[in-house]
Amino acid sequence: MNKLKISKNFSLHEFECHDGSHLVKLDEVLIEKLQQLRDKIGLPITINSGYRTPEHNTKIGGAPKSQHMLGKAADISVRGWTAKQITEMAETIGFGGIGIYHKQNFVHVDVRETKTRWEE
Ligand SMILES: [Zn+2]
Repeated sequence: MNKLKISKNFSLHEFECHDGSHLVKLDEVLIEKLQQLRDKIGLPITINSGYRTPEHNTKIGGAPKSQHMLGKAADISVRGWTAKQITEMAETIGFGGIGIYHKQNFVHVDVRETKTRWEE
């Protein structure tokens, strides 16, 4: 396991592709903003999905131009928090893309250039 710390509360392995390859790409702005969010929430943030290889992204039905393939996105959750609550906090930090997934109770955040919002 890659225990390399990349910020106060995050390690690189948390962002590895879940295809068993341990491949990872990570945008420095993403990790900066996630750490800001972590500090503001004051609780651990679970990274459900970070980097995805194009092959893995296709396999799990990700968007064709998914920011996950660029290392610019993370699907996150916080124990005891609703997706809506996480989103409201994420908005105060300012991410390019924010997608709320109510049923599965996670939030997609990314650092794309254009502001994009969606809900499922
Ligand atoms: Zn996502």
